[in-house]
Amino acid sequence: MSKARTRFAPSPTGYMHIGNLRTALYAYLLTKNLGGDYILRIEDTDQERYVEGAVDLIYRTMKETGLKHDEGPDVGGDYGPYIQSERMGIYKEYAEKLVELGGAYYCFCGKERLEEMKEEQAKKGLVPKYDGHCRNLSKEEIQAKLDAGEPYVIRQKIDPRGTTTFEDAVFGSITVENSSLDENVLLKSDGLPTYNFANVVDDHLMKITHVIRGNEYLSSTPKYNLLYNSFGWEIPTYVHVSPIIKESGKKLSKREGDASYEDFTNKGYLKDAIINYIALLGWSPGGEQEIFTMDELIEHFSISGISKSPAVFDEKKLAWINGEYIRKLSMEEFEELAKPWFEKAIKKEVDYKKLAILMHDRTEKFIDIVEQLDFIDELPDYDIDLYNHKKMKTNPENSLESLKAALPVLEALNEWNEESIHNTLFELIEKLGVKNGLILWPVRVALSGKSFTPGGAIEIADLLGKEESIERIKKGIEKLS
Ligand code: GLU
Repeated sequence: MSKARTRFAPSPTGYMHIGNLRTALYAYLLTKNLGGDYILRIEDTDQERYVEGAVDLIYRTMKETGLKHDEGPDVGGDYGPYIQSERMGIYKEYAEKLVELGGAYYCFCGKERLEEMKEEQAKKGLVPKYDGHCRNLSKEEIQAKLDAGEPYVIRQKIDPRGTTTFEDAVFGSITVENSSLDENVLLKSDGLPTYNFANVVDDHLMKITHVIRGNEYLSSTPKYNLLYNSFGWEIPTYVHVSPIIKESGKKLSKREGDASYEDFTNKGYLKDAIINYIALLGWSPGGEQEIFTMDELIEHFSISGISKSPAVFDEKKLAWINGEYIRKLSMEEFEELAKPWFEKAIKKEVDYKKLAILMHDRTEKFIDIVEQLDFIDELPDYDIDLYNHKKMKTNPENSLESLKAALPVLEALNEWNEESIHNTLFELIEKLGVKNGLILWPVRVALSGKSFTPGGAIEIADLLGKEESIERIKKGIEKLS
């Protein structure tokens, strides 16, 4: 068997949809599992959709996520150019060749005629479809029109009799009636190819063995097969993957901030966790393991694990996986990655090392840091109801007593660190003969104004420093008095 070759063929739209990244990942995993090559091809034939910087974003994302391509516009290769807009001559040549082979024909129908045709079909309740008006023009008629400079397109020629069957590695054998297939335009009047045509020509010329893509292309695949047959080319293995949907059944959406790779990196998900999660989104390795390195994914990946049903995107699961990755980071690595989030959360000067120790176990995704540490710069305006805690047996009344007792011993501290704060408060607890919570809970609330905080009273006091802590405890006393 020839060496496996898969490609990722994104259109430069300006952002990397999670579904596209998953397709890119599956193509990578499959080809690497088979010991093959991975090709990046930029599908930019639709120049109207050109977005500045979009191609760079593709390169950047692939690099960041570790989807290293063996061939592509930025790394070269034997089958270039790898950008479709640089291959225009090729498509015209192949379209003309296909006409000669009987798989396509010149069509001179103008816009007006096509619109009338569509209207007629709509009136009759028919599915819109080219009516074959130019299919049987004679050679002479065609030549005369070409000589006269009439604008034309080249359309795929499909014999309406019989059926076409194709095999998909995920969806199995699919058969369609040829009469249902539209004779689509392959080459437009401006000489540019349509997506459908360029894609097939390039997959063939670039010797792609496995075509992995979203199943929105499933219905066009019989037409691609007919093109391969007309050219006498070998048909690649098709691997169509089901869409990713939300629990609500809706699509991932750019507006709701859950559609693109950047949406998730912006929320502080780690690239490796994103890759790990989307690998499992529609593919099952069959087993209990859920955390995989890229090498492990390559080793386990197989087409048979790809699911036919739509994959439900579960951000909670992603967050859980992300948490697992965060836990695996060393404290130094964590601090480094968390730093921009600490900076976002806190303007005051605080010891990032201490913060890192406090947050390492408590972070699922970095964006949570901002909310968890929002009390450090400024004490939030809190309700005294927070002093009520069933388990700690505290209420606003006994909390006032506790704060009043804690204030002088803390004020008397010369050295302010976790150890000294700890010792002082526990001495007080012992002296008063009360439960820990009776002192620690009120202090924690007074310091943070929150019921959930990373770390308890002692860690928070240490972080805030003496002056600020004393001031906040005094505020608490005031509030409760
Ligand atoms: N350019 C197409 C897209 O971005 C590629 C589809 C395919 O992989 O064939 O959807």
